[in-house]
Amino acid sequence: MTAAWTNWAGTATATPAALARPQSTDDVSRAVLWAGDRGMRVKAVGSGHSFTSIAVTDGLLLGLDRLAGIVAVDTASGRVTVRAGMRLHDLNRELAGRGLAMENLGDIDRQTISGALATGTHGTGARFRGLASSVLGMRIVLADGSVVDCDAEQDPTLFEAARIGLGALGIVTELTLQCVPAFLLHAREEPGSLTETLTRLDELVASTDHLEFYWFPHTDRVLLKRNRRLPLEAGEDPLPRWRAWLDDDFLSNSVFEMVNRVSAARPAWVPRINSMSSRALSSREFTMPSFEVFASERRVRFREMEYAIPRDAVIDTLLSLRDLVDTSGVLTPFPVEVRFAAADDIWLSTATGRESAYIAVHQYHRMDHRSYFDGFEAIARNVDGRPHWGKMHGRSYEDLQPTYPRLADAVAVRDRVDPERRFGNDYLDRVLGS
Ligand SMILES: Cc1cc2nc3c(=O)[nH]c(=O)nc-3n(C[C@H](O)[C@H](O)[C@H](O)COP(=O)(O)OP(=O)(O)OC[C@H]3O[C@@H](n4cnc5c(N)ncnc54)[C@H](O)[C@@H]3O)c2cc1C
Repeated sequence: MTAAWTNWAGTATATPAALARPQSTDDVSRAVLWAGDRGMRVKAVGSGHSFTSIAVTDGLLLGLDRLAGIVAVDTASGRVTVRAGMRLHDLNRELAGRGLAMENLGDIDRQTISGALATGTHGTGARFRGLASSVLGMRIVLADGSVVDCDAEQDPTLFEAARIGLGALGIVTELTLQCVPAFLLHAREEPGSLTETLTRLDELVASTDHLEFYWFPHTDRVLLKRNRRLPLEAGEDPLPRWRAWLDDDFLSNSVFEMVNRVSAARPAWVPRINSMSSRALSSREFTMPSFEVFASERRVRFREMEYAIPRDAVIDTLLSLRDLVDTSGVLTPFPVEVRFAAADDIWLSTATGRESAYIAVHQYHRMDHRSYFDGFEAIARNVDGRPHWGKMHGRSYEDLQPTYPRLADAVAVRDRVDPERRFGNDYLDRVLGS
């Protein structure tokens, strides 16, 4: 029996029967056949940054750290083929060196590209879609050990299901991505009020390339972040080193950890603490390479639930969430994050077929999250919310079906390529059926 595996948040653990670190597609194929001969299930693990138990297995766990790096780049078209285990922070730097970038990114860069894609990782921006919309093709090892290349022409149903595949269809070993010319982001961050932000929301969403805001529960305060895309020729204007360290390292991580520890020890102080934290925020502006602005460092451990809801429902949903916080006795020092995305057509995307807003609730890992998350989940369900596949939720196949028009099609592809559920686990049984 090998050592237990734990995810980043400490919300999922596994004691796999065996571990392997494949270096090639052939290694993966051999490992899948080896597990099949022994009746073992198989699961690839990325960087373990999912909050759900989606990456858990009792069988063979495949670590992908040796299956990394760029395979091919066509700078003119922006098509880039990468190995599945490549971390986003490595990918971003490699792309920048070639004058390219990912069109949009989430707020950290620790994930593997295949792990991020498998769960539908997204950033923000009403004109932009999640990361999986940049996938042009995939190489996948199926349950019988065969290696399949799929894209919009070659086995298109496998491709549609696998673009956000929850790790349920096979082990992805390579991905071809549509990248864009490298660009800068001008970041403008400023404190404000929730009331005013909601009043101006339509205008803010329409006029900002990448808008997000953090609302501090128990207060009316927000931190508004507006990122504007600029060509490289506009020139960088980074924060002074001391200011970047003060805001992003010391205040956002070291001091925030202390704030959370005090909150865990004295929950009754949380409203006052949030009021003080939100008032300590100051404005700042800077211009840097896109991937450096999108991603932040997150050292304070937390639990998270995030729901994609129809864009038009965001104000009512936030007001209901505020009522919940004000009336239920829920206490949390963590801000609520609000983001936006364009509709896409990916079968298992949380933004499939509709313009979306994302609302994420967080709780410090030493504080109880259950009544808060349960309360928010009930609110999100009322507006046909779709949970992030990699973040905590209580939904199951039956009640997800009405909100995902192509869920049954994805399951049919799974039945075709993995009838014995070689890549199954308890989480997938719950959300895709057993
Ligand atoms: C601090 C923090 C910040 C985050 N920020 C964001 C954000 O801004 N936006 C957002 O949408 N999400 C965000 N997330 C969620 C995160 O992006 C997803 O959970 C993502 O899946 C994590 O990637 P990973 O490499 O850690 O994958 P893991 O969690 O290790 O794995 C996720 C799934 O992918 C499967 N998988 C991995 N590699 C392969 C492969 N090669 N073939 C088949 N299946 C594979 C695994 O089996 C598992 O099912 C955040 C998470 C954390 C902890």
